[in-house]
Amino acid sequence: MTIDSKPLFGKVALLGIGLIGSSMAYAIRRAGLAAHIAGYTRSPESLEAARAIGFADTLHDTPEAAVREADFVVLATPVGAFAQLAQSIAPHLKAGAIVSDVGSVKAAVIHEVGPHIPAGVHFVPAHPIAGTEQSGPEAGFPELFDGRWCVLTPPAGTDPQAVETVRTFWRRCGSEVEIMDAKHHDLVLAITSHVPHLIAYNIVGTAADLETVTQGEVIKYSAGGFRDFTRIAASDPTMWRDVFLNNREAVLEMLGRFNEDLTALQRAIRWGDGEALFNLFTRTRAIRRSIVEAGQDTPAPNFGRSRARKP
Ligand code: NAP
Repeated sequence: MTIDSKPLFGKVALLGIGLIGSSMAYAIRRAGLAAHIAGYTRSPESLEAARAIGFADTLHDTPEAAVREADFVVLATPVGAFAQLAQSIAPHLKAGAIVSDVGSVKAAVIHEVGPHIPAGVHFVPAHPIAGTEQSGPEAGFPELFDGRWCVLTPPAGTDPQAVETVRTFWRRCGSEVEIMDAKHHDLVLAITSHVPHLIAYNIVGTAADLETVTQGEVIKYSAGGFRDFTRIAASDPTMWRDVFLNNREAVLEMLGRFNEDLTALQRAIRWGDGEALFNLFTRTRAIRRSIVEAGQDTPAPNFGRSRARKP
């Protein structure tokens, strides 16, 4: 057995087994990263669905039971539930265990979770930048993290060995790993993820409220661009509510910039400044090209949607 195929942990506990938690379970199995995968979910429906699929070795309806004897514990519920979870599991954590998370915001998570982590347990916050608009235990798949970035934001003073172990974990799940300051992470993600989601939620909401253009027309002619926003705007409402409530400052800062730039575009349209519009659209087209070149999306036309028509 080579080092890279050895289990990294005896037991991993995934607290939350929706899209991200269940995908982690698949990736852990695929890479042989743990001898035992324990999952926690709060609802009987999700517990039953996870049991039927079988991606975990044991399933629990309390987080305390899931973390018993675990070497690696991952918080994978919506961010708003992390503080309560951390408080509940704290007395049950094994000495020397590593606690991590997958939350989409980092400074608030460190602030909320950090104080509950007992002495002798390491806390290494993480954010896999990978996802879909689906949620729940049926949504997961083993390749979700392949070729995607995972950002670790260890607070100052975190045990370097624990950080290294979490880095190895995500690498073996298929990700590339970067270490970043939590506040910087939140600013970067505000513009690359949080504000784009807000724009999608807003435009779909505006279209739904229009009275002069009917909803029937909005749906019928959605291939003009609207439907690409609806994919993002179908993302989980609880998760995204918690993202905006916990990354308030960075999102508001980026929205300020966004509004200024939108006003400039509005002015260009009003005054017929075609050159300004053309120049911006040329720059943005190049950004799309670099995302494809970086392997972060497919160059397939129409986002890879099949051209086949249903019979
Ligand atoms: P999800 O599919 O909706 O699954 C959420 C899981 O958390 C379920 O097991 C759910 O249990 C449980 N849960 C929900 N609310 C809870 C609460 N109040 N207390 C205890 N458990 C609760 O969510 P997800 O997409 O996997 O997201 C999980 C985390 O990953 C979030 O923190 C999110 O910020 C982060 N993340 C998401 C994405 C993405 O694109 N989705 C990408 C990167 C990171 P029940 O089903 O039993 O209610």
